[in-house]
Amino acid sequence: MTIYQNLIAGEWTGAEAVENINPSDTKEVVGLYASGSAADTRNAIAAAKAAFPAWSRSGIWERHVILKKAGDEIMARKDELGALLAREEGKTLPEAIGETIRASQIFEFFAGEALRLAGEVVPSVRPNIGVEITREPLGVIGIITPWNFPIAIPAWKIAPALCYGNTIVFKPAELVPGCSWAIVDILNRAGLPKGVLNLVMGKGSIVGQTMLDSPDLAGITFTGSVGTGKRVAVSSIEHHRKIQLEMGGKNPMVVLDDADLSVAVEAAANSAFFSTGQRCTASSRLIVTEGIHDRFVAAMTEKLKTLNVDHALKTGTHIGPVVDERQLKTDTDYIEIGKKEGAKLAFGGELISRDTPGFYLQPTLFTEATNQMRISREEIFGPVASVIRVKDYEEALAVANDTPFGLSSGIATTSLKHATHFKRNAEAGMVMVNLPTAGVDFHVPFGGRKGSSYGSREQGKYAAEFFTTVKTAYTLA
Ligand code: NAD
Repeated sequence: MTIYQNLIAGEWTGAEAVENINPSDTKEVVGLYASGSAADTRNAIAAAKAAFPAWSRSGIWERHVILKKAGDEIMARKDELGALLAREEGKTLPEAIGETIRASQIFEFFAGEALRLAGEVVPSVRPNIGVEITREPLGVIGIITPWNFPIAIPAWKIAPALCYGNTIVFKPAELVPGCSWAIVDILNRAGLPKGVLNLVMGKGSIVGQTMLDSPDLAGITFTGSVGTGKRVAVSSIEHHRKIQLEMGGKNPMVVLDDADLSVAVEAAANSAFFSTGQRCTASSRLIVTEGIHDRFVAAMTEKLKTLNVDHALKTGTHIGPVVDERQLKTDTDYIEIGKKEGAKLAFGGELISRDTPGFYLQPTLFTEATNQMRISREEIFGPVASVIRVKDYEEALAVANDTPFGLSSGIATTSLKHATHFKRNAEAGMVMVNLPTAGVDFHVPFGGRKGSSYGSREQGKYAAEFFTTVKTAYTLA
């Protein structure tokens, strides 16, 4: 089998490789992907550092053309790349194609942003002096990504980094190197000069840690777990490095008595269980007021009966497998914890077998949960959600905000008063009214508060905040 190699200083390299396994069918090897060493990582950082002076002064048209070409190729290959994504990560084919389209749109957006770079010219408070405020590239950026959005998250970090003139060392998650390799290959062929974008696939403890230990990375943009995020933060203070961290969530979805029941159930089922609950914006706490509680639970249970869990590529599959054995064990451990804590298992909770060997778990719904239970406080990151019964809107809001996280927060209601109040008072970076907590646009800021995020927002024009540094220049007239 061919080895998909790392790209370092414009050369494909690497003989050590690991198998990329399909979670829908563990007999299928999606491909062999290089596993980089600490030396490879150091070489990649050196290459990015050497390429920075020229790329940081490259013309905006050159950047535009490369980003646009990449976006166009991703869109043209959306079915093929979507199938690769579904095979390596396990989300359903329609979800995977949707994510691929989003990656393409992100490249298109930043291709446009490259042509819109601008500064400010302002008067000085002193006579005969002019003031210019400009944004300059930051330097070498380390990009570290998780497994759950194998093409969109790399896209939303790589595209702005290149757009604003930075060079890159990119380390994707070990579980899903395929889509990352594909977009690096596309960008490389689109005309990026050698060393501007370096790919080092491999272990977090080796490749990632070498990046953290390097004094040559001006910034690290990281998405992943809270634990790894903290390591990125601590090492970055030592190296005086800019960071952007997107981490876990325990997102609430409030359902009020006045909600349209079908809207609430559609939003909650999507939030909690689509993409196998493996979205940082997934809702795992369904906070439901007394008057609608029993009807909501009954309708959710009926809805869950209609969702097919099966091979990600199979037509009619609503929920693919869990990503790997380790995550499956985490999910089933939490299901046991929930039972022991006294929550009632209202639906699911069982492993299921299908035609192919894979990590298949029923969508699992607990009721009679409290917000103090571990299943309500800790991120599970699987198809497991609990219903927490509350008296009224005020209690619902208090419970929604009573969490160490603050990524996304949703409400189902027909009351303008409550929707308006919730949008202002939900302690989250993103708020959804009558919509799932997951599912966001690519051209507007993405990110959270509290334990979910640290640093400036990703995506849209807000991305400039992280990927550039501001200069103020004074000139005597
Ligand atoms: P993870 O922290 O285990 O891994 C993330 C990345 O960090 C991987 O590439 C991994 O190899 C790397 N890494 C691991 N150890 C490292 C080290 N010592 N030094 C440097 N890098 C290291 O997270 P995961 O399991 O891949 O992803 C799941 C988590 O990601 C969940 O907590 C989820 O909520 C979060 N997530 C957050 C967002 C968001 O935008 N907030 C989006 C997607 C996923």
